[in-house]
Amino acid sequence: MRKVFIFLSLLILMLSGCIPEPEIHIEGVKDGEVYVKDRIIEIDENRAGEYTLKLNGETIQNGHTVSENDDYKLTITAKRWWNEQTKSIQFEIDDIPPNKPSFKDEPKEVYYKQAKFSLEKEEDVMYKVKMDDKPYDINNPVTEEGEHKLFIKAVKDNGLLAQKEVEFVIDNRTYTRKAVDTFKHFIFHSEEQQDQKVLKWTKNASVYIYGNPTGQDREALESYFNRINELLPIDLLIMESDIHSTGDYSLSIFFVPSHKFKDYGFKGDLENGNKRIVGFAAPTKVSEEGILRSIIVIGTDTDQRFRKTTILHEIVHSLGLYGHFNNNEHSILYPYNNNMVTELTDMDKKMIEILYRPGIHTGMDESDVERVLKTRIKE
Ligand SMILES: [Zn+2]
Repeated sequence: MRKVFIFLSLLILMLSGCIPEPEIHIEGVKDGEVYVKDRIIEIDENRAGEYTLKLNGETIQNGHTVSENDDYKLTITAKRWWNEQTKSIQFEIDDIPPNKPSFKDEPKEVYYKQAKFSLEKEEDVMYKVKMDDKPYDINNPVTEEGEHKLFIKAVKDNGLLAQKEVEFVIDNRTYTRKAVDTFKHFIFHSEEQQDQKVLKWTKNASVYIYGNPTGQDREALESYFNRINELLPIDLLIMESDIHSTGDYSLSIFFVPSHKFKDYGFKGDLENGNKRIVGFAAPTKVSEEGILRSIIVIGTDTDQRFRKTTILHEIVHSLGLYGHFNNNEHSILYPYNNNMVTELTDMDKKMIEILYRPGIHTGMDESDVERVLKTRIKE
């Protein structure tokens, strides 16, 4: 009779749930997660009953800290009487961000007709690509002419990211072989600049006017800079101040009698036979990037009619075109002002355009220029 009683009472205990199931409740790590920082693994001991924690096969204590970058498998066993539960949690610690996005070929600053980019992809990294702020499939070439901005964000499953922005231009302008050769001859083989390299302005520059220009000189300067700025990617801006500037990105124009030219750095004879120097232009500070400071000196003792030509001639020199077209009297770069030219010829404009193209940089030599322009030469 007694035996039956015990059996019955156990049955009642089981039915009424007086021996609770073990519950596995872990804090600190979750299945499938990737963590960047240390994790502390904690188990709710009261709910688990008798338990074991194994991390990658090794027994660990409650409150264990995981800090090494690795893949982990946590196996938990919890037991109450004959009730046993097991659970496994896989997680990863990875505090390394993705690499900065890079390309199989280094992006160029300027493209002809189309630009294509091929990403170096890292495993387990997701790449989000935007072109001009819109989602973009990087496998498609870009063909729209103009300025573009490519933005790539690399996101790893640990949530860390790296990004890269590339600005480039698609420019489909072409040149005749004659224009390119004239440019190269002008820059690299003129009498004035033997063994020279390309030199140009790369940022907006302030123009200061000193000395005694006439009203007509000032009008001419304003109109010339307005026209020339339309041809340049930068602006040369006339400043109202006549305080002597020593700042970079400045072009100082002095109107002084020609006997004072030597005070401004002119070396050589002012007169040669019936020819007389009426003005000159020279860079006075340059860097690897380009012209930082330059001066123009205009003689106030020449006839106003000719002086208008001299002013434009020296301005064009100061852009970085220091040579002359000795045999083309229609050009502003004809060395004498008796042609009274006050307009740029198409070839003059072409020389400015080529010098100020994207891709043509200070310090380039003749072969660099040929390489950059080669694909654009169309007869
Ligand atoms: Zn000259």
